Amino acid sequence: MEEKLEDKLISKKESGWATVTSEEKENIFKLSEEYMNFLNKAKTEREFIKMARNLADQNGFKDIIEYNTLKPGDKIYFINREKSMYLGIIGEESIENGMHIIGSHVDSPRLDLKPNPLYEDTGLAYFKTHYYGGIKKYQWTTIPLSIHGVIVKTNGEKIEINIGEEKTDPIFTITDLLPHLAQEQMEKKLKNGIDGEDLNLLIGSIPYKDTKYQEKVKLNILNLLNQKYGITEQDLTSAELELVPAFEARSLGFDESLVAAYGQDDKVCAYTSLAAMLNIQNVKNTSICILSDKEEIGSMGNTGMESHSFDFFISEILNKLGINRPNLLDKVFCFSKMLSSDVDAGFDPIYARSLRQEKCRIYRIWNKPKQIHRSKGKIRSIRRKCGICSMG
Ligand SMILES: [Zn+2]
Repeated sequence: MEEKLEDKLISKKESGWATVTSEEKENIFKLSEEYMNFLNKAKTEREFIKMARNLADQNGFKDIIEYNTLKPGDKIYFINREKSMYLGIIGEESIENGMHIIGSHVDSPRLDLKPNPLYEDTGLAYFKTHYYGGIKKYQWTTIPLSIHGVIVKTNGEKIEINIGEEKTDPIFTITDLLPHLAQEQMEKKLKNGIDGEDLNLLIGSIPYKDTKYQEKVKLNILNLLNQKYGITEQDLTSAELELVPAFEARSLGFDESLVAAYGQDDKVCAYTSLAAMLNIQNVKNTSICILSDKEEIGSMGNTGMESHSFDFFISEILNKLGINRPNLLDKVFCFSKMLSSDVDAGFDPIYARSLRQEKCRIYRIWNKPKQIHRSKGKIRSIRRKCGICSMG
Protein backbone atom coordinates (compact mmCIF):
# COMPACT_ATOMS: atom_id res chain seq x y z
CA MET A 1 0.00 0.00 0.00
CA GLU A 2 1.31 3.45 -0.89
CA GLU A 3 2.41 5.65 2.01
CA LYS A 4 0.09 8.61 2.65
CA LEU A 5 1.61 12.05 2.00
CA GLU A 6 0.86 13.25 5.55
CA ASP A 7 2.55 10.19 7.04
CA LYS A 8 5.62 10.91 4.94
CA LEU A 9 5.91 14.65 5.51
CA ILE A 10 4.20 15.66 8.74
CA SER A 11 6.15 15.13 11.97
CA LYS A 12 4.32 12.93 14.44
CA LYS A 13 3.96 14.29 17.95
CA GLU A 14 3.62 11.07 19.84
CA SER A 15 4.12 10.54 23.56
CA GLY A 16 7.59 9.16 24.22
CA TRP A 17 6.01 6.49 26.40
CA ALA A 18 4.13 5.08 23.38
CA THR A 19 7.33 3.86 21.75
CA VAL A 20 9.39 2.49 24.66
CA THR A 21 9.65 -1.22 25.31
CA SER A 22 9.02 -2.58 28.79
CA GLU A 23 12.78 -3.10 29.21
CA GLU A 24 13.46 0.53 28.24
CA LYS A 25 10.76 1.65 30.66
CA GLU A 26 12.47 -0.28 33.43
CA ASN A 27 15.79 1.40 32.59
CA ILE A 28 14.13 4.85 32.56
CA PHE A 29 12.75 4.27 36.06
CA LYS A 30 16.12 2.95 37.28
CA LEU A 31 17.97 6.03 35.94
CA SER A 32 15.27 8.29 37.40
CA GLU A 33 15.73 6.72 40.81
CA GLU A 34 19.49 7.31 40.67
CA TYR A 35 18.81 10.85 39.49
CA MET A 36 16.41 11.53 42.38
CA ASN A 37 18.92 10.19 44.93
CA PHE A 38 21.57 12.44 43.36
CA LEU A 39 19.26 15.49 43.47
CA ASN A 40 18.68 14.97 47.21
CA LYS A 41 22.42 15.21 47.84
CA ALA A 42 23.19 17.90 45.25
CA LYS A 43 20.82 20.81 45.78
CA THR A 44 23.48 23.49 45.28
CA GLU A 45 26.23 23.97 42.71
CA ARG A 46 28.92 23.15 45.30
CA GLU A 47 27.19 19.93 46.29
CA PHE A 48 26.67 18.94 42.64
CA ILE A 49 30.35 19.45 41.83
CA LYS A 50 31.44 17.55 44.96
CA MET A 51 29.23 14.57 43.99
CA ALA A 52 30.37 14.80 40.35
CA ARG A 53 34.01 14.75 41.42
CA ASN A 54 33.44 11.60 43.52
CA LEU A 55 31.75 9.86 40.59
CA ALA A 56 34.48 11.00 38.18
CA ASP A 57 37.21 9.71 40.53
CA GLN A 58 35.42 6.35 40.80
CA ASN A 59 35.25 6.11 37.00
CA GLY A 60 38.91 6.62 36.15
CA PHE A 61 38.97 10.42 35.73
CA LYS A 62 41.81 12.44 37.30
CA ASP A 63 42.44 16.13 37.88
CA ILE A 64 44.30 17.48 34.83
CA ILE A 65 46.89 18.91 37.25
CA GLU A 66 48.03 15.33 37.94
CA TYR A 67 49.02 14.77 34.29
CA ASN A 68 52.25 16.02 32.70
CA THR A 69 51.33 14.69 29.26
CA LEU A 70 48.07 13.47 27.76
CA LYS A 71 47.30 10.72 25.24
CA PRO A 72 44.12 9.27 23.68
CA GLY A 73 41.95 7.55 26.25
CA ASP A 74 43.04 9.75 29.17
CA LYS A 75 40.13 10.96 31.31
CA ILE A 76 40.56 14.35 32.96
CA TYR A 77 38.70 17.08 34.77
CA PHE A 78 39.23 20.59 36.04
CA ILE A 79 37.26 22.04 38.95
CA ASN A 80 36.97 25.80 39.25
CA ARG A 81 36.58 27.03 42.84
CA GLU A 82 34.40 24.03 43.80
CA LYS A 83 31.49 25.45 41.78
CA SER A 84 32.00 24.49 38.14
CA MET A 85 33.68 21.55 36.46
CA TYR A 86 34.84 20.47 33.01
CA LEU A 87 35.40 16.81 32.19
CA GLY A 88 37.26 15.54 29.13
CA ILE A 89 38.19 12.28 27.42
CA ILE A 90 41.02 12.56 24.89
CA GLY A 91 39.89 11.08 21.57
CA GLU A 92 41.72 9.02 18.93
CA GLU A 93 41.24 11.81 16.33
CA SER A 94 43.48 14.87 16.44
CA ILE A 95 41.89 17.50 18.67
CA GLU A 96 42.55 19.97 15.81
CA ASN A 97 39.59 18.37 14.04
CA GLY A 98 37.36 19.64 16.82
CA MET A 99 35.88 18.45 20.07
CA HIS A 100 32.39 17.19 20.86
CA ILE A 101 31.07 19.25 23.76
CA ILE A 102 27.97 18.93 25.89
CA GLY A 103 27.22 21.71 28.36
CA SER A 104 24.69 22.43 31.06
CA HIS A 105 24.52 24.39 34.30
CA VAL A 106 24.44 23.21 37.91
CA ASP A 107 23.21 26.38 39.64
CA SER A 108 19.48 26.92 40.26
CA PRO A 109 17.35 29.83 41.51
CA ARG A 110 17.47 30.13 45.29
CA LEU A 111 17.80 32.63 48.16
CA ASP A 112 21.26 33.67 49.38
CA LEU A 113 22.01 35.10 52.80
CA LYS A 114 23.16 38.73 52.77
CA PRO A 115 26.71 39.35 54.09
CA ASN A 116 25.40 40.67 57.45
CA PRO A 117 22.26 38.57 57.64
CA LEU A 118 21.37 38.21 61.31
CA TYR A 119 18.92 40.58 63.02
CA GLU A 120 16.24 40.60 65.70
CA ASP A 121 12.85 42.26 65.52
CA THR A 122 10.17 42.12 68.24
CA GLY A 123 11.48 38.98 69.87
CA LEU A 124 12.11 37.03 66.66
CA ALA A 125 15.45 36.40 64.94
CA TYR A 126 15.85 36.45 61.17
CA PHE A 127 18.39 36.08 58.38
CA LYS A 128 18.12 38.69 55.61
CA THR A 129 18.21 37.18 52.12
CA HIS A 130 18.42 38.23 48.51
CA TYR A 131 17.26 36.12 45.62
CA TYR A 132 19.54 34.50 43.06
CA GLY A 133 18.13 33.82 39.59
CA GLY A 134 14.54 34.16 38.46
CA ILE A 135 12.07 33.29 41.20
CA LYS A 136 8.38 33.85 41.82
CA LYS A 137 8.75 35.34 45.28
CA TYR A 138 5.39 34.14 46.65
CA GLN A 139 6.45 30.52 46.04
CA TRP A 140 9.24 30.89 48.63
CA THR A 141 7.03 31.75 51.61
CA THR A 142 5.54 29.18 54.02
CA ILE A 143 7.61 26.28 52.72
CA PRO A 144 10.30 24.43 54.70
CA LEU A 145 13.74 25.72 53.75
CA SER A 146 17.20 24.32 54.47
CA ILE A 147 20.53 26.13 54.69
CA HIS A 148 23.46 24.88 52.57
CA GLY A 149 26.92 26.30 52.01
CA VAL A 150 30.22 27.16 53.61
CA ILE A 151 31.48 29.48 56.32
CA VAL A 152 35.13 30.54 56.20
CA LYS A 153 36.36 31.53 59.66
CA THR A 154 38.88 34.28 60.28
CA ASN A 155 41.59 31.61 60.78
CA GLY A 156 40.88 30.26 57.26
CA GLU A 157 39.07 27.15 58.45
CA LYS A 158 36.18 26.22 56.17
CA ILE A 159 33.00 24.74 57.65
CA GLU A 160 30.42 23.00 55.49
CA ILE A 161 26.83 23.72 56.46
CA ASN A 162 23.79 21.58 55.67
CA ILE A 163 20.84 22.07 58.04
CA GLY A 164 17.26 21.07 57.33
CA GLU A 165 17.63 17.94 55.19
CA GLU A 166 17.74 15.27 57.93
CA LYS A 167 14.47 14.31 59.63
CA THR A 168 15.96 15.32 63.00
CA ASP A 169 17.14 18.74 61.72
CA PRO A 170 15.10 21.91 62.25
CA ILE A 171 13.87 23.66 59.10
CA PHE A 172 13.48 27.39 58.47
CA THR A 173 10.76 29.39 56.76
CA ILE A 174 9.72 32.76 55.37
CA THR A 175 6.38 33.78 56.83
CA ASP A 176 3.33 35.16 55.02
CA LEU A 177 0.29 37.07 56.20
CA LEU A 178 -2.75 35.02 57.25
CA PRO A 179 -5.69 35.33 54.81
CA HIS A 180 -8.08 37.48 56.87
CA LEU A 181 -5.37 40.14 57.43
CA ALA A 182 -4.20 40.08 53.84
CA GLN A 183 -6.86 42.15 52.10
CA GLU A 184 -4.42 44.88 51.07
CA GLN A 185 -1.83 42.32 49.98
CA MET A 186 -4.43 40.40 47.94
CA GLU A 187 -5.31 43.57 46.02
CA LYS A 188 -1.73 43.86 44.75
CA LYS A 189 -0.40 42.40 41.53
CA LEU A 190 0.92 38.87 42.10
CA LYS A 191 4.52 39.97 41.49
CA ASN A 192 4.20 42.64 44.21
CA GLY A 193 2.35 40.51 46.76
CA ILE A 194 5.61 39.60 48.51
CA ASP A 195 8.29 42.26 48.57
CA GLY A 196 11.90 41.17 47.95
CA GLU A 197 12.94 43.02 51.12
CA ASP A 198 10.46 40.93 53.14
CA LEU A 199 12.05 37.61 52.19
CA ASN A 200 13.52 37.22 55.69
CA LEU A 201 14.12 33.78 57.11
CA LEU A 202 12.69 33.05 60.55
CA ILE A 203 15.42 31.34 62.59
CA GLY A 204 14.47 31.54 66.29
CA SER A 205 12.52 33.04 69.18
CA ILE A 206 14.09 32.00 72.52
CA PRO A 207 15.93 34.87 74.33
CA TYR A 208 19.31 34.34 75.99
CA LYS A 209 18.91 34.62 79.76
CA ASP A 210 21.33 36.22 82.20
CA THR A 211 22.18 39.26 80.09
CA LYS A 212 21.34 42.92 79.88
CA TYR A 213 22.16 42.89 76.17
CA GLN A 214 19.08 44.08 74.29
CA GLU A 215 18.89 41.63 71.39
CA LYS A 216 18.59 38.49 73.46
CA VAL A 217 17.15 36.20 70.75
CA LYS A 218 19.91 37.19 68.32
CA LEU A 219 22.48 36.53 71.05
CA ASN A 220 20.98 33.13 71.78
CA ILE A 221 21.16 32.16 68.08
CA LEU A 222 24.81 33.28 67.92
CA ASN A 223 25.53 31.30 71.08
CA LEU A 224 24.02 28.17 69.51
CA LEU A 225 26.01 28.71 66.30
CA ASN A 226 29.16 29.29 68.33
CA GLN A 227 28.65 26.09 70.32
CA LYS A 228 28.01 24.02 67.18
CA TYR A 229 30.42 25.59 64.66
CA GLY A 230 32.73 27.80 66.71
CA ILE A 231 31.74 30.88 64.68
CA THR A 232 30.97 34.49 65.57
CA GLU A 233 28.70 37.01 63.82
CA GLN A 234 31.67 38.34 61.86
CA ASP A 235 32.31 34.91 60.31
CA LEU A 236 28.93 35.17 58.55
CA THR A 237 30.41 37.96 56.42
CA SER A 238 32.78 35.46 54.80
CA ALA A 239 30.11 32.80 54.40
CA GLU A 240 28.32 31.63 51.28
CA LEU A 241 25.00 30.29 52.54
CA GLU A 242 22.11 29.35 50.28
CA LEU A 243 18.48 28.57 51.10
CA VAL A 244 16.77 25.83 49.15
CA PRO A 245 13.48 23.94 49.64
CA ALA A 246 13.89 21.21 52.27
CA PHE A 247 11.72 18.82 50.25
CA GLU A 248 13.04 15.52 48.93
CA ALA A 249 12.65 14.52 45.29
CA ARG A 250 9.46 12.45 44.88
CA SER A 251 7.67 10.57 42.13
CA LEU A 252 4.53 12.35 40.96
CA GLY A 253 1.28 10.75 39.80
CA PHE A 254 -0.40 7.36 40.29
CA ASP A 255 1.81 6.04 37.49
CA GLU A 256 4.89 7.73 39.04
CA SER A 257 5.69 9.09 35.60
CA LEU A 258 7.02 12.49 36.68
CA VAL A 259 9.82 13.61 39.00
CA ALA A 260 8.91 16.43 41.39
CA ALA A 261 12.02 18.05 42.84
CA TYR A 262 13.81 21.33 43.39
CA GLY A 263 16.53 22.44 40.97
CA GLN A 264 15.85 20.26 37.92
CA ASP A 265 16.72 23.30 35.77
CA ASP A 266 19.36 22.38 34.83
CA LYS A 267 20.41 19.43 36.92
CA VAL A 268 18.31 17.11 34.77
CA CYS A 269 20.68 17.91 31.88
CA ALA A 270 23.80 18.12 34.04
CA TYR A 271 23.18 14.72 35.67
CA THR A 272 22.40 12.94 32.40
CA SER A 273 25.40 14.59 30.66
CA LEU A 274 27.64 13.50 33.52
CA ALA A 275 26.21 9.96 33.50
CA ALA A 276 26.83 9.75 29.74
CA MET A 277 30.37 11.08 30.14
CA LEU A 278 31.18 8.45 32.78
CA ASN A 279 29.93 5.61 30.56
CA ILE A 280 31.16 6.66 27.12
CA GLN A 281 33.46 4.13 25.37
CA ASN A 282 35.85 4.31 22.38
CA VAL A 283 35.98 8.08 22.06
CA LYS A 284 36.80 9.29 18.53
CA ASN A 285 36.67 13.08 18.87
CA THR A 286 37.82 14.48 22.20
CA SER A 287 34.68 14.61 24.37
CA ILE A 288 34.05 17.43 26.80
CA CYS A 289 31.32 17.87 29.41
CA ILE A 290 30.74 21.34 30.89
CA LEU A 291 29.04 21.66 34.28
CA SER A 292 28.75 25.41 34.60
CA ASP A 293 27.84 27.81 37.42
CA LYS A 294 26.15 31.26 37.36
CA GLU A 295 23.91 30.59 34.35
CA GLU A 296 20.92 31.85 36.31
CA ILE A 297 22.47 35.32 36.63
CA GLY A 298 23.88 35.79 33.14
CA SER A 299 26.96 33.52 33.32
CA MET A 300 28.98 36.27 34.99
CA GLY A 301 31.53 35.81 37.80
CA ASN A 302 34.69 33.75 38.06
CA THR A 303 32.82 30.44 37.96
CA GLY A 304 30.45 31.38 35.12
CA MET A 305 31.04 30.83 31.41
CA GLU A 306 31.97 34.51 30.95
CA SER A 307 35.17 33.66 32.83
CA HIS A 308 38.22 32.25 31.03
CA SER A 309 38.29 28.98 32.96
CA PHE A 310 36.94 26.87 30.07
CA ASP A 311 39.53 28.34 27.69
CA PHE A 312 42.14 27.57 30.36
CA PHE A 313 41.04 23.93 30.58
CA ILE A 314 41.21 23.41 26.79
CA SER A 315 44.56 25.28 26.61
CA GLU A 316 45.91 22.96 29.30
CA ILE A 317 44.79 19.97 27.23
CA LEU A 318 46.63 21.41 24.19
CA ASN A 319 49.72 22.06 26.33
CA LYS A 320 49.73 18.56 27.76
CA LEU A 321 49.16 16.98 24.35
CA GLY A 322 52.36 18.83 23.39
CA ILE A 323 50.79 20.51 20.35
CA ASN A 324 49.87 24.03 21.52
CA ARG A 325 50.79 27.02 19.37
CA PRO A 326 49.39 30.54 18.79
CA ASN A 327 45.69 30.56 17.80
CA LEU A 328 45.31 26.79 18.05
CA LEU A 329 42.64 27.27 20.73
CA ASP A 330 40.56 29.35 18.28
CA LYS A 331 40.93 26.69 15.61
CA VAL A 332 39.89 23.92 17.97
CA PHE A 333 36.80 25.90 19.01
CA CYS A 334 35.96 26.65 15.36
CA PHE A 335 35.98 22.98 14.41
CA SER A 336 34.10 21.83 17.49
CA LYS A 337 30.47 20.84 17.79
CA MET A 338 28.45 21.65 20.84
CA LEU A 339 25.17 20.51 22.33
CA SER A 340 23.83 23.11 24.72
CA SER A 341 21.52 21.24 27.03
CA ASP A 342 19.13 23.24 29.15
CA VAL A 343 15.51 22.75 30.03
CA ASP A 344 12.51 24.32 28.39
CA ALA A 345 8.96 24.64 29.65
CA GLY A 346 7.06 21.37 29.42
CA PHE A 347 3.72 21.97 27.74
CA ASP A 348 1.05 22.44 30.39
CA PRO A 349 -2.49 22.56 28.94
CA ILE A 350 -3.67 24.64 31.93
CA TYR A 351 -1.36 27.44 30.74
CA ALA A 352 -1.66 26.61 27.05
CA ARG A 353 -2.08 30.22 25.91
CA SER A 354 1.21 31.39 27.47
CA LEU A 355 3.11 28.34 26.33
CA ARG A 356 1.93 28.54 22.72
CA GLN A 357 3.22 32.12 22.53
CA GLU A 358 6.65 31.00 23.75
CA LYS A 359 8.97 29.88 20.97
CA CYS A 360 9.83 26.59 22.63
CA ARG A 361 12.64 24.31 21.68
CA ILE A 362 13.96 21.29 23.44
CA TYR A 363 17.60 21.50 22.47
CA ARG A 364 19.86 23.39 20.15
CA ILE A 365 22.87 22.05 18.30
CA TRP A 366 25.31 24.32 16.63
CA ASN A 367 28.42 23.94 14.54
CA LYS A 368 31.44 26.18 14.36
CA PRO A 369 30.48 28.44 17.26
CA LYS A 370 32.59 31.38 16.14
CA GLN A 371 30.68 31.83 12.89
CA ILE A 372 27.41 31.82 14.72
CA HIS A 373 28.76 34.20 17.31
CA ARG A 374 29.43 36.83 14.68
CA SER A 375 25.76 37.61 14.89
CA LYS A 376 25.74 39.73 18.04
CA GLY A 377 22.02 39.38 18.70
CA LYS A 378 22.36 35.65 18.60
CA ILE A 379 25.25 35.68 21.05
CA ARG A 380 23.09 37.43 23.55
CA SER A 381 20.15 35.12 23.05
CA ILE A 382 22.37 32.03 23.31
CA ARG A 383 24.07 33.33 26.42
CA ARG A 384 20.89 34.39 28.11
CA LYS A 385 19.19 31.13 27.36
CA CYS A 386 21.92 28.59 27.99
CA GLY A 387 24.97 30.36 29.32
CA ILE A 388 27.48 27.87 28.05
CA CYS A 389 29.15 29.94 25.43
CA SER A 390 32.76 30.74 26.11
CA MET A 391 33.52 32.65 22.91
CA GLY A 392 32.46 35.57 20.81
ZN1 LIG B 1 18.65 26.49 32.76
